[in-house]
Amino acid sequence: MRNLAIFGGQKIRNKPFPKWPQFKEIDESALIEVLHSNNWNRGANSNNSDFISKFENKIKEMLDVKYCIGVSSGSCALDLAAKGAKIIAEDEVIVPAYTFISSISCVIHAGAKPIFTDIDPKTWNIDPVKVEENITNKTKAIIVVHFAGQPANMDAIQKLAAKYNLIVIEDAAQAVGASWKNLPVGSIGDIGCFSLEGSKNITAGEGGFITTKNKFFFEEIYSLQNCGRKLNGPWYQHENIGWNNRITEFQAAIAYNQLKTLESYNSIRQENALYLKKLLQEIPGIEVTEVDGNVTSHAFHLITMRYKKAYWNRLGKNRFILALNAEGIPCYAGYKYPVYENPVFKKLGYDVETIAQKCKIAKQVTEESIWLPQNLFLGNKNDIDDIVKAFIKIKDNLNSLKR
Ligand SMILES: *Cc1c(COP(=O)(O)O)cnc(C)c1O
Repeated sequence: MRNLAIFGGQKIRNKPFPKWPQFKEIDESALIEVLHSNNWNRGANSNNSDFISKFENKIKEMLDVKYCIGVSSGSCALDLAAKGAKIIAEDEVIVPAYTFISSISCVIHAGAKPIFTDIDPKTWNIDPVKVEENITNKTKAIIVVHFAGQPANMDAIQKLAAKYNLIVIEDAAQAVGASWKNLPVGSIGDIGCFSLEGSKNITAGEGGFITTKNKFFFEEIYSLQNCGRKLNGPWYQHENIGWNNRITEFQAAIAYNQLKTLESYNSIRQENALYLKKLLQEIPGIEVTEVDGNVTSHAFHLITMRYKKAYWNRLGKNRFILALNAEGIPCYAGYKYPVYENPVFKKLGYDVETIAQKCKIAKQVTEESIWLPQNLFLGNKNDIDDIVKAFIKIKDNLNSLKR
């Protein structure tokens, strides 16, 4: 019998999951307000009651940091952080082997060398033991990524930073609102970088922001994102060679309003994600990524798991995902490569084989990973039950998929 939806059978789920991004009436009125304000960008006038300041102030309060700078993307936040931290040619910067390209490209834009470092097989975050193995007298900084919304082991990272006098940049693009031992991510290392891109847990379509407690980094980064102008300095006086990476009032208006629902949305995501994790644990061959006991809030930008095909008649992961998609469950394979395997690194002359030897967990995770996006977790337990039913249905009909 052709039971599975991939063969034309009845789908487990016809209803869509909660959509993303979402907006409310208040976002519409905020956009109209900006439109009529004669104040569309930073520096357009001296009026201080603007959304960029309101957004930055709210972040400072929520994350308990002294400074926040809204910028035009998470990628440029990382570029600005690397430049602002004075990472230069000859420096080495420790980066995770499993991440988005921008965690690496910021190091290369600064002229320095990324040192790809393997991840922890349980949490998929950078492995502090491997970090220490990779530290040399050229190491200037560590970039940690709070992957999928789960804070990395910041105790171990901060300890290494203190021991070897290193700067810590947190790539918190996926983790706004997450905390490690009750410390918000972005407030633990020296500089935090966040994204407001369309898929992220708060979004303005595009955008980003930077957090720091350090006045020097704040003033440097402020200047670099604003064409090298000095903070509060004259418009046509330039102290640095910077860029225009400024956020707009339109982006800040949307992002500011989203901050109001961040906490409640993150707790719904967390509740539903943990419920799914519990149910999927019963299914052999699916290993949901573990949550470290020191994580006090997980942003669950993604729910990630490893697919062990030995338990699924050796059915390939991509075919398994297509079968889930057909049942009405949106999910995908995640990064195509551990980041160092992207074609660019071979072109740049990196010794990719040697890197691969040292980053075997990242490779294995890439091959086995399945990602479920955060918006699937914004509804109720019935949504989660449907996800589980689809996994079980495929398990029960494995023979029809196997050819
Ligand atoms: C999304 C993302 C970025 C980049 O953010 P953009 O706003 O898309 O430029 C950087 N790092 C990680 C880990 C991300 O997921």
